[in-house]
Amino acid sequence: MEDNQSIIFVQFFFLIGASCTIAWALYAGVFRIAPKASWRFAFANLLTVIGILLYTQRTTEVNYLYWFVADMTILLGFAFARWGCQYLFKQPASYLFDLVALATCGLLMLMVPPSLGYAVYLVILMSVTAAVLLSLMGLDNVRAARKHLSIYYATLINAPFFLMASLFLIRALALFIYPEKLANLSAADKLNSPLVMWSYIILLLVSNLVLYGNALTRLVFKVASLANKDQLTGLWNRHALLKKLEEVDALWQRNGLAYSILVLDLDHFKQINDTYGHLAGDLIIKNTAKVLQQSLRKIDFICRYGGEEFLIILPLTADNDALVVAQKIQTKINNSSILWQKNTVSVSLSIGYVTSKPHLSVEQLLQLADDAMYIAKNNGRNTISTKQSASSDNVEPSQ
Ligand code: GH3
Ligand code: MG
Ligand code: MG
Repeated sequence: MEDNQSIIFVQFFFLIGASCTIAWALYAGVFRIAPKASWRFAFANLLTVIGILLYTQRTTEVNYLYWFVADMTILLGFAFARWGCQYLFKQPASYLFDLVALATCGLLMLMVPPSLGYAVYLVILMSVTAAVLLSLMGLDNVRAARKHLSIYYATLINAPFFLMASLFLIRALALFIYPEKLANLSAADKLNSPLVMWSYIILLLVSNLVLYGNALTRLVFKVASLANKDQLTGLWNRHALLKKLEEVDALWQRNGLAYSILVLDLDHFKQINDTYGHLAGDLIIKNTAKVLQQSLRKIDFICRYGGEEFLIILPLTADNDALVVAQKIQTKINNSSILWQKNTVSVSLSIGYVTSKPHLSVEQLLQLADDAMYIAKNNGRNTISTKQSASSDNVEPSQ
């Protein structure tokens, strides 16, 4: 550490790295925002700062701490950032692969004395391993972001990871071809190359920004999905229903393939609550939701419509096919039960169904399905009914 610029660089880098470490630790420990991922991001920053501080102590002497440990610390920091992203997006962790990559790099580094004499070899090894970790982290993130964004935006927001990986790779290649340019391309013996110094600072800042952006994206989508989900059953809630119904309706208007709506209401549910208590009632509602999920196709939309009422949209399903689905659900519910304090508790459902018609709006269709369900109740419960229009009742008892 000789010139002023190097000292300013280290101070600046330390300040940013330490602030990011503290910020992620606060996120994790105090605000409990994605804590497992945030702790990993805090470690990633801490390890990178420690690694760079160790770099500053390098001399021309052989020294394992300032060469080998410093490089491995920074690489471990990158691995922590990758593991954090995997936690954030609920992806499988790649501990084994990354640790094997780090161990391979470490073993190859240990084949030479860690010193300036072998710096070209050591910097190439470090750069290639860093490029591998960073590009894999970028790919993980693009894959995760694809769930919410187009491939274009998913790649764009994660471009800094690919840029960083490319820079490390270009450095390795450049050193391979022009080993005499070592002083300009790496922090080999001291941090006096402005190109390397400032790229480290920019990389640190940009990668933290991307990590922060990813954490925020995840949070926003989690909140948005919670707003559309029912807490007890995990089914869609009423809030999500209208949007879905309009989507399915628009699709039908375009392709002419009708859809159906089922309204289901548990029979005499108040009695179950009164006899066994609300917790048993909740369990029945949860069990009904599970049976519905297991009975229907992936494209069907199941929503908790009210307390003990459910609404199902069946795309590409008309009249008689909808009746068949309703009968299947009814049979499955009749055959299912829960065990509550040594009592076997079972329920039945009254189901109303309607199929989309050109002259009916979405709201009218919902009203008809609701009316059909009340007809099923009036028919003695545990039955299925339909209603074609506001004036006429078409009732089809299921049993
Ligand atoms: P019917 O056959 O006419 O539908 O009779 P019912 O008793 O099911 O109808 P009613 O509408 O009178 O009662 C519905 C009951 O559902 C009343 C309410 O306490 C209960 N309920 C609504 N939401 C929940 C819930 O989330 N958990 C529990 N345990 N009970 C609920
Ligand atoms: Mg009800
Ligand atoms: Mg009921």
